[in-house]
Amino acid sequence: MGKTAVGIDIGGTNIRASNISEDGRIIKGLKEPLSSSPIESAIALIDGIITDDTVGIGVGVAGIVDRGSGRVTLSPNIPQIVDISITRAIQERFHLPVVVENDADAYAYGEKWVGSGKGFKDFVLLTLGTGIGGGIIYDGDLFKGAAEVGHMIIEGEGVKCACGGYGCLEAYASGRAIVNKAVEAIEKGQDTILRACCNGNFYKLTGELIYRAALDGDNLSREIFRDFGRYLGIGMATLANLFSPEAIILGGGLLGAWDLFIELARKEFHRRTLAPLQQKVSIIKSSLGQDAGAIGAAGLVFKSL
Ligand SMILES: [Zn+2]
Repeated sequence: MGKTAVGIDIGGTNIRASNISEDGRIIKGLKEPLSSSPIESAIALIDGIITDDTVGIGVGVAGIVDRGSGRVTLSPNIPQIVDISITRAIQERFHLPVVVENDADAYAYGEKWVGSGKGFKDFVLLTLGTGIGGGIIYDGDLFKGAAEVGHMIIEGEGVKCACGGYGCLEAYASGRAIVNKAVEAIEKGQDTILRACCNGNFYKLTGELIYRAALDGDNLSREIFRDFGRYLGIGMATLANLFSPEAIILGGGLLGAWDLFIELARKEFHRRTLAPLQQKVSIIKSSLGQDAGAIGAAGLVFKSL
């Protein structure tokens, strides 16, 4: 058997670990819900899939990563991981090279390596989940800025974001944002089938429930996804104006709602992107889905060797 690298994806909900071949195939994958000690969980998962052919371990983690030390310096969704050196903790146990990267950056690298981004030299990846993550492939390689595209400010005096700021894209076009909007509308007495969801406890609403209600023809839910599309289009226009990418690739858990938001997202995108820059941009879906982060983290290991 050829060389393998282990890719770990530590997200706000789950930890995924996959042993990946040199051509980007998953040999074995494991997953478990996020715990209070994610590093210990990751080490246990690595133990379950590592082989004698494994040459290194890549970790994608939801937060701002100090690439030199392998420490997470900010993570609103996984505070228990902040200020721990992930590199050191994993190296002490496995004695192999370790690469630590932001999860959306790892995702983008995975798409570039073996996914939808394979044929593009420049693209921006957006992960549409509870929040919004971003990764940028520039001139064929991972752009090493923070790429916190979810915190691009799109409304000067806008609503409060999970980061503590106001008017960020994530506060308008994420799973959390649409849930907040639905709850607010229900509290105002707006007519919607969402009211009957979760046994009447609408504080338990999720993006997926709103998506299903929209498919069932619920007007409020449909309007919420149209607004989501408009704001996503504004965000994508800014990214295109900044980076002139060949593609914008959309991934994450809300991708299933594509048909509910993409038309308005494209419309807004074309209205706001500078004409010569918008011609070449393809807006497409991620092809690796939930495995992209782990695949990309493993790909970064092969690249670093
Ligand atoms: Zn923000």
